[in-house]
Amino acid sequence: MIYIFGGAFDPPHAWHSAIIRTLLHFRHPTQIVILPSGKRNDKEYGVSDEHRLQMLDIFTSELRDPRVIVDDYFIREWEWEMITRDVDEYAREQYGDDIIHIFGTDTIASMPDWDSEQYAAKVVKKLFVPRNFEGICHRDEGSDPEKDKRIQNNNWIASCLAMTEQKGIQNFEFFTESHIPEISSTDIREDIPKYATIHARYENDPQFMIPGLSKKISQYILQNKLYLPKLQNKPKILVHVCCGPDVTMPILELRDQYDVICFWYDPNIQPKAEYDKRYEAFVRVCEIENIPYIKWAYDVKNFFTRIKWLEYTPEKWEKCTHCYDMRMYVAAKLAKKLSIPIYTSSLNTSPKKDLEKLFKMGHKYAEKYRIEFLDIPFRKNWGFEKSVEYTIKNDIYRQNYCGCIYSIREGGENNLKKKIVG
Ligand code: SF4
Repeated sequence: MIYIFGGAFDPPHAWHSAIIRTLLHFRHPTQIVILPSGKRNDKEYGVSDEHRLQMLDIFTSELRDPRVIVDDYFIREWEWEMITRDVDEYAREQYGDDIIHIFGTDTIASMPDWDSEQYAAKVVKKLFVPRNFEGICHRDEGSDPEKDKRIQNNNWIASCLAMTEQKGIQNFEFFTESHIPEISSTDIREDIPKYATIHARYENDPQFMIPGLSKKISQYILQNKLYLPKLQNKPKILVHVCCGPDVTMPILELRDQYDVICFWYDPNIQPKAEYDKRYEAFVRVCEIENIPYIKWAYDVKNFFTRIKWLEYTPEKWEKCTHCYDMRMYVAAKLAKKLSIPIYTSSLNTSPKKDLEKLFKMGHKYAEKYRIEFLDIPFRKNWGFEKSVEYTIKNDIYRQNYCGCIYSIREGGENNLKKKIVG
């Protein structure tokens, strides 16, 4: 027997996987064919067809059973509105008559209205798996007290049988071999934005995932920024900029969710010719990405006063603490002054910076000025490497030391870059 599992798979989640795994275990099918739906008048998908197929690729690879395949016919070939009859006719032609279609029990109530000939309700061979039991009860408006009683007793098969009888559904059976968890695609999609800004912090945690989704699918969604609301009035964010190469990642990561304004304040860079060169590189990135920016004073005296007696401490130590602090403080103060509710820094992109220190400072000044600090480690998820690629592709100047005259001998990120780009 071949099972045909049609649906939106928007995204594929634990309910789909539970059905497939239990079918494989209890019914030993020859094949389970996942047939993602194509164009539908009654439905707009949350992501593009390409993303749905990519997620299904991950989904099937995680099932690790060659009997489970994805057939993309209705996405790639079918140009019209599709109905269940089309799916059944195609599946018979492709896989033979020994097929059975999987449906959730939540479809029973509306199935007779799917086509004028009641092809779905009467002709198609169906396996109903329990889904949205509450929904079945509520949709059955003409229910009698007896049926309500059965529902209260949580006897889903009796309730579904009563409804199939009432609706004239034929040619079906129920999947009773195992419990299937109650999971809704809509709930999952609504939950995803909550995870959009925290995932980078937990990416190395083997347990972290969006509830209802596998870790790999969660990561695919978060990395591709899928299912995020299209914001009309995005909140503003002030991004302190340490250099052009490092600000590429904050801009690319944040621009969909925030109205990004860059802020150049780096009196730690010496000599002045190098400062100007780095500023020009930063301006080029802003021009390419069409991002507004603010330039602040080159108060180099302030920098030397802050690091007095600490000049020869190694990178990441005390002189750098003061150097980060000076820039975070001014950025937070300016964000407050401009009524920008959130700030962050491109310093979080560089692998040579102490993230713990930076995040602590960021939050300290956020608290002081009653704004928020966004503690995203932009260097994660290959962020630093992506910024290197960006600068090579767009011919953006990348410095070979951190910034102050004391860091020139330390070689800054140059060695790292050499390792990456060869
Ligand atoms: S090494 Fe870099 S972070 Fe440290 S003080 Fe010099 S410029 Fe600032």
